[in-house]
Amino acid sequence: MQAQFQTEFLQRYPNFFRSPGMRLVDPDVIPGLLVDDLAPFDQRGIECEDGWFDLIDRLSRACENEIGMLIAKDVPKERWPRVAQIKEKMGGLRFYVNGPLSDELRTLILQVENIDSLCTCERCGAPGKLREGRWRHTHCDNCAATE
Ligand SMILES: [Zn+2]
Repeated sequence: MQAQFQTEFLQRYPNFFRSPGMRLVDPDVIPGLLVDDLAPFDQRGIECEDGWFDLIDRLSRACENEIGMLIAKDVPKERWPRVAQIKEKMGGLRFYVNGPLSDELRTLILQVENIDSLCTCERCGAPGKLREGRWRHTHCDNCAATE
């Protein structure tokens, strides 16, 4: 994805795309354990084409809103969700998050990954469909014709 679009996400959603710090592992599993929050996103950025900008924007906004609710409840930063990896895989979007997520947010992410991204052209954002070939990709007719 173009660098300017990634910069746009960092500006719009500064909590979800915050710099990596330490993350508290689920206290029900291991109380008090902090781990490094460095993720593939920090090395590789967003690993898909620009056509999925709106889909990523929708999910990032939902994550940022969820963090806003956690802030209102005085939940410490180490327990906020943070971007882990955003990429294309098998023709669909994958949007991985570190940290806890509400059921609503989980459901939204699965819907965008498994339904919306598979009918949105990864290159230009027009309506598209999953195309099977040497590689699986979701493209509109125009973009598929210029491959
Ligand atoms: Zn297209």
